[in-house]
Amino acid sequence: MFVFDHKEFDEHERIGFFHDAETGLKAIIAIHNTNCGPALGGCRMWDYASEEEAVTDVLRLSRGMSYKAAITGLPLGGGKSVIIGDARKIKTPEMMRAMGRAVQQMGGDYIIAEDVSTSVEDMEQVAKETSFVVGLPAKQGSGSGDPSPLTAYGVFAGLKSAVKTRLDRTDLKGLTVAVQGLGQVGYNLCRHLHEEGAKLIVTDINTETIDKAVKEFGAVSVGLDEIYDVDADVYAPCALGATLNDDTLARLKVSVIAGAANNQLAESRHGDVIKDMNVLYAPDYVINAGGLINVWHEYQARTQGKAYDIDAVKKHIGEIAGTTGMIFKYAAQNDISTAAAADSIAEERFKADEVVEEQVA
Ligand code: NAD
Repeated sequence: MFVFDHKEFDEHERIGFFHDAETGLKAIIAIHNTNCGPALGGCRMWDYASEEEAVTDVLRLSRGMSYKAAITGLPLGGGKSVIIGDARKIKTPEMMRAMGRAVQQMGGDYIIAEDVSTSVEDMEQVAKETSFVVGLPAKQGSGSGDPSPLTAYGVFAGLKSAVKTRLDRTDLKGLTVAVQGLGQVGYNLCRHLHEEGAKLIVTDINTETIDKAVKEFGAVSVGLDEIYDVDADVYAPCALGATLNDDTLARLKVSVIAGAANNQLAESRHGDVIKDMNVLYAPDYVINAGGLINVWHEYQARTQGKAYDIDAVKKHIGEIAGTTGMIFKYAAQNDISTAAAADSIAEERFKADEVVEEQVA
């Protein structure tokens, strides 16, 4: 396996491979771009079928973080890490401390956070070895805990911006939103939508959360595959990636697509398919950046010795509405898809080292 020739290499600045014999840690830290600041990204633990699969995953995820940080206007770069192995079987506090030592070796160019199969408790272990860590438990002074409610708040802001642009509505009263996935983010999003008077159609593999949403929000539940066929104004994918594909796009009857899930477009060409359908797509990494904005505030607070300020965080996350609106405008002016518009603006920023300072104040 060759890293420099890897199809996902895409000019990564630095890739570190780490092994700790005592704890069994096998990890890769990838730093895609630090032009705008240190690379911040989660640490995913996964039982990869091969080392090559782990390298492919970390490179793709790390590159994605450069786009997310840049479009959000944060003084951060893109990076990500993976630990190879089944978290339920091999993860230990000692292994997470070894991961903390690996992060420390990157000298501050990489800031770690939780991701799939790592938790705020794991980050507490990491923090024993390095200060380049975010997503610490809220009980730890400047820690901020679970970011999901704040991610949901950002998705809500982006969704409203899309509704305003496409449907010329500043409220959601009476509009129908089809929400796929009622997990940490999806359920919180439903609460915001319900409070604004939207009608909800929901689906999930977990019937307990479905029952809860039916009771609490008066939601209508449909089968897993039926969510693509319902009569709704907005489709909000909050479960899996790649749900915007040839099959589903032929079935969706919505005017707006805005949800939390990562990598919603099965292939980048689907951004153009959506544009041709005259549907407005709020790019996933733009509207799900609330968690990133939150941990950036946490990091700033800790490094500057200030208290973590939830009101400032919410205000900043609310700016996702303006960012989304700016992308819609750029896309319309240049007659390109909103996905292409977001990528183009992000690339312009991180390739040119251009942080939008007014957005991070
Ligand atoms: P989660 O695991 O808490 O929730 C996912 C939900 O989707 C679960 O309730 C699960 O039962 C459901 N689900 C799984 N397969 C499904 C299917 N086929 N159809 C319908 N529902 C299905 O995850 P989360 O933290 O809520 O994140 C949701 C999405 O948002 C993920 O794609 C995640 O990567 C992305 N995201 C999350 C955050 C965050 O702060 N949590 C930040 C950025 C992006």
